[in-house]
Amino acid sequence: MRAARARTPRRPKAAPGNVLKDPVGVYCRVRPLGEQDAERCVEVVSDTTVQLHPPDGYRVFRNGEYKETQYTFKEVFGTLVTQKQLFDVVAKPLVEDLIRGKNGLLFTYGVTGSGKTHTMTGSPGDGGLLPRCLDMIFNSIGPFQAKRFVFKLDDKNGVDVQCEVDALLERQRREAMPVQKTPCGKRQIDPEFADMINVQDHCKVEEVDEDSVYSVFVSYIEIYNNYIYDLLEEIPYDPIKPKPPQSRVLREDQNRNMYVIGCTEVEVKSTDEAFEVFWRGQKRRRIANTQLNRESSRSHSVFMIKLAQAPLDADGDNVLQEKEQITLSQLSLVDLAGSERTNRTKAEGSRLREAGNINQSLMTLRTCIEVLRENQMYGTYKMVPYRDSKLTHLFKNYFDGEGKVRMIVCVNPKAEDYEESLQVMRFAEMTQEVEVARPVDKPLCGLTPGRRFKNQAFKDELSRKLEARGGPVIGETEDQSVTEMFLQNFPPLPSCELLDINDDQTLPRLIDALEKRHRARQMLSEEFAKNALAFKSMLQEFDTKMVSKENFAQGKLAEKEKAIAGQKMEIERLEKKNKTLEYKIDILEKTATIYEEEKRTLQQELESKSQKLQRQASDKRRLEARLQGMVVETTSKWEKECERRVAAKQLEMQNKLWVKDEKLKQLKAIVTEPKPEKPERPSREKDREKGLQRSVSPSPVPLSSNYGTQVPNSLQLMSQPQMHRRSNSCSSISVASCVSEWEQKFPSHSKPTSVTPNARIRQQEPEQNRNCVSDRRRGMYWTGVTEVPSRRNQIDVEEDQCCRGDVFKTRGGGQAVQFTDIETLKQESPTGRKRRSSQSSPNPPEDGAESEWTDVETRCSVAVEMRAGSNLGPGYQHHAQPKRRKP
Ligand code: ADP
Ligand code: MG
Repeated sequence: MRAARARTPRRPKAAPGNVLKDPVGVYCRVRPLGEQDAERCVEVVSDTTVQLHPPDGYRVFRNGEYKETQYTFKEVFGTLVTQKQLFDVVAKPLVEDLIRGKNGLLFTYGVTGSGKTHTMTGSPGDGGLLPRCLDMIFNSIGPFQAKRFVFKLDDKNGVDVQCEVDALLERQRREAMPVQKTPCGKRQIDPEFADMINVQDHCKVEEVDEDSVYSVFVSYIEIYNNYIYDLLEEIPYDPIKPKPPQSRVLREDQNRNMYVIGCTEVEVKSTDEAFEVFWRGQKRRRIANTQLNRESSRSHSVFMIKLAQAPLDADGDNVLQEKEQITLSQLSLVDLAGSERTNRTKAEGSRLREAGNINQSLMTLRTCIEVLRENQMYGTYKMVPYRDSKLTHLFKNYFDGEGKVRMIVCVNPKAEDYEESLQVMRFAEMTQEVEVARPVDKPLCGLTPGRRFKNQAFKDELSRKLEARGGPVIGETEDQSVTEMFLQNFPPLPSCELLDINDDQTLPRLIDALEKRHRARQMLSEEFAKNALAFKSMLQEFDTKMVSKENFAQGKLAEKEKAIAGQKMEIERLEKKNKTLEYKIDILEKTATIYEEEKRTLQQELESKSQKLQRQASDKRRLEARLQGMVVETTSKWEKECERRVAAKQLEMQNKLWVKDEKLKQLKAIVTEPKPEKPERPSREKDREKGLQRSVSPSPVPLSSNYGTQVPNSLQLMSQPQMHRRSNSCSSISVASCVSEWEQKFPSHSKPTSVTPNARIRQQEPEQNRNCVSDRRRGMYWTGVTEVPSRRNQIDVEEDQCCRGDVFKTRGGGQAVQFTDIETLKQESPTGRKRRSSQSSPNPPEDGAESEWTDVETRCSVAVEMRAGSNLGPGYQHHAQPKRRKP
């Protein structure tokens, strides 16, 4: 933290690539085991390594392992280390840096009772790092300290300088004030802490800039419950209504350094005085803890030492009155709160909240360190959440800017602390990976080095000489003595005492002497005038030389000034450019952060969408598989069902076939029965009447033998070349053959070239069966039941007889018809014209018999093709049936 125009520690001027960085120095101190503690679980393995092993109770882990962990630090201090040794290694370099104008931060971290306060403050007779730091500072700058109030801290984290006279006046003014509380170096040391600062091992910084003056300011704050309290604030004590301490606010100065607004900063001139101030704050802290029932281990205490320094003027006499030349450096000594988790302390109520907040501060510290480490290691630009807690916000300059950061991790080796110690170690080890910019050396002021001592030496010599002459002499006396010395060289004047009135010798002797003197005087004055003239001419000569030299020098100076002005302008321009670039970088950084954020959001969105898509695809696949399964299942089910039905139908058909076979046999018997007269187509009624007679009628063999050459029997019919070779070749008699057989017996109705409807259909003879052909083209096929119509014509009444029967597959691949019934259909024609059933026939028959025959045959074929059990006529049936494989 600097004056308004002092170097800013936060933003090093060098390009980012050139900035040298040092890792945070982490040291570990293991305190001795307490008397009541039996088991230790921390061992110092080497100068840099410490090992933790779980205590007895913890030995069996979930995975059954006995786990030892080792942690490496810059240096590990065992129980035997002294405060002095620790100070020399850890804090001394920080004090040296402070005096060279660089910032430093030292904090102790660990569980409550691990020795943080012992390390930082120490105990009587064994002072810790804090009193040792103070001691070293005053040992180093002691003789070069500025008078009180020469340096004045302002309320904006800057520093001013004033001349000694002003400082003296201010001192007197303050001393005159009634509530003056400026500590005095010559006061008696408080016996309470006398032993603590009685540091025997004096040490000092070797190379202190002797041409500067120094002033030390200390402040002491406490961060409790994420509130900042000034421990050095002077509050008039009111025993009736004690005023609670006021919390303080953090602010960023113009160099972007953080400071506590209105924090008391006391100028101190000695170790005793500084430690007394510290002790005052410590007492206040204790009182507050007692009054407000707070737990001391839950607060962070920060003792800040600010060192202001400015160079002496060219004479080496007074401090240079230029604000730009002041350097303000700071060393912060932080005793952190216990790092243990809330539940361990069994805190309740407000205590719990406090503990939570404290842990929150430490958590934020951890997070900041983690983010810093990540940014540095992976080149990311994640925002470091310094602002999340007062503690990290206050020290953000150290990590963000430049300085030296060191941490002492305190460990208590007792078993109960094992788990917490593990956490502490992990954090500490990680902290080492964070790097902080190395502070640069302060610029030289350009004045002759060693002027303080030269001035001192001159003054000493002068006073010594004066002392030898018997005291101080002024210039005039010196001049007189020279005249006297000159006069002493003249012969003494003769005695001018006239004792006698007639004495005529005394006066002429006197006159002579005086005349001699007068001549000598004249000679001297002439000599003097001559010398003066010579000297004057010499002077004039010298003067002209000087003037010419001066002119020359001035010319040179002007040139140089011009060059300097040019360079200054260039510097200004570069600075401006630098500022613009910094601003641009800032903006770009912010933009990058925003883009990163956006990118992350978009990636998340993309991920969620692709997941959704995947889900949907898998759903679809599942559904498809299910549907496929269902289709297969349904298909197989229906196939089975169809097979089952077909089988049932077949069985049923076979049964019916068997029955109808029987009936056919009977019919055959009737049909083949020889008739003495011209046969007449029997009606169904007649059949019924003659049922009994038919059954006993003789076999049709003789008749068939009459027509043997044409239609000998069913087998003969099959053997005829125009017939289909696969027509009813089995034992069953086809319907058409039966009908033709029957018609052949009565030539008036018959045609010798009759074939079975079945065969005809297969042969597809167009001239005989045009209807059938056309019908087949429309997708006709065989059905289970066949009707064979026969007809008897009368004048007015048309009477058709139909033989009903079933068609079924034979084993040889053919088909058979089994007649089951004969039906007589009567129709009265209003015109008395003979009805033609196949009106659409393109070739009308030549004679009545022919046409009648064709009609019967066509109808037979149509009937044969009709499906069993259908209520529709054949024509309709054909149109309605779907195409099926031929049996
Ligand atoms: P913390 O501040 O971490 O809570 P303290 O510094 O108050 O712990 O230490 C607790 C006790 O342990 C004190 O009585 C202190 O004297 C003692 N102690 C701590 N560290 C050491 C050490 N290195 N050597 C001797 N005693 C120690
Ligand atoms: Mg403590």
